[in-house]
Amino acid sequence: MNQENPVGLPQSEFDLIRRFFADLGPTRADVLLGVGDDCALLEVPAGQSLVISIDTLVAGTHFFHDCDPEAVGHKSLSVGLSDLAAMGAAPAWATLALTLPRPDHDWVEGFACGFGALAETYRVRLVGGDTTRGPLSITVQVHGLIRAGAAIRRHGARPGDLIWVSGTLGDAALALEAIRQGAPVDAGLRARLERPVPRVEVGTALRGIATAMIDLSDGLAADLGHILAASGVGAEIDLADVPLSPAVATEVASRADWTLPLSSGDDYELCFCAPPEHASVIRSLAAGLGCSLSIVGRIRPEPGLTLRSPEGASLTMKRAGYDHFSAGA
Ligand code: ADP
Ligand code: MG
Repeated sequence: MNQENPVGLPQSEFDLIRRFFADLGPTRADVLLGVGDDCALLEVPAGQSLVISIDTLVAGTHFFHDCDPEAVGHKSLSVGLSDLAAMGAAPAWATLALTLPRPDHDWVEGFACGFGALAETYRVRLVGGDTTRGPLSITVQVHGLIRAGAAIRRHGARPGDLIWVSGTLGDAALALEAIRQGAPVDAGLRARLERPVPRVEVGTALRGIATAMIDLSDGLAADLGHILAASGVGAEIDLADVPLSPAVATEVASRADWTLPLSSGDDYELCFCAPPEHASVIRSLAAGLGCSLSIVGRIRPEPGLTLRSPEGASLTMKRAGYDHFSAGA
């Protein structure tokens, strides 16, 4: 392959990479043929839809060049699994396109270790990929399964639905800020940025319950805005109910600024809508899964997103996204 492809890795190094990726993740009966041939052969069960998403992480843009390779491996699979979760799909397979500046054994081993641990947890088999030389970049396509017609899309929110979010918001952005400033970063906060936990169990449990769902990669305001636009509705958020970790709560209070939890990236929590009569089912689901789920607002028939501050002030955003929002606004 290397003779035919001048940007390919030397054969010995390619073999090394194949060693790390040829048997990654649990074996699955629905993989008829995985890594090693021209293509993978996969069996989608009758009555199921194939659910696909792809994401690229570029060194220096989506992660720091010196980031722990294990964390890079974890995150490169995690962001795709978060997309599958947001549709209510069960993860099944992944493909990986890896571009490396040089064949660095230790880096690839660490990367495969982080990727592999998450693949085991969510029963994802790596079934193929591509390996090339160039600036460090990772593209992962994830494939999930869901009963035909059961996917939770963005367009189903209805006036009166309650709006929920999982976990806490703004932690990853706070960690990123601290790392950029060279300030010490608490390990738990750093993990929120570098090793996000995809909310797969929550997403799949919400089938038949949530009317619309999205994963939060660009901040609650912008991402909820996608649900509102797709559903042709508006919403009202009570800022006092937005779930915050103690670290983010302290920053929001001292800055009098809600940018961290409302319009920062990389939370990878789920935001979903559901009729109020499902609230008790959702609460018991949260308790069973050990993941907090909080009601942050409700869907309104009028377009626009209204934010109510704890002090009672309110601000209506006409556009989905915004650059800055201050509690005093
Ligand atoms: P081709 O020349 O047909 O594209 P390659 O030499 O690129 O084949 O790859 C050979 C096999 O190794 C294929 O099955 C491919 O899916 C797999 N593969 C290559 N790189 C990776 C990778 N980074 N992760 C997983 N599988 C890979
Ligand atoms: Mg190839």
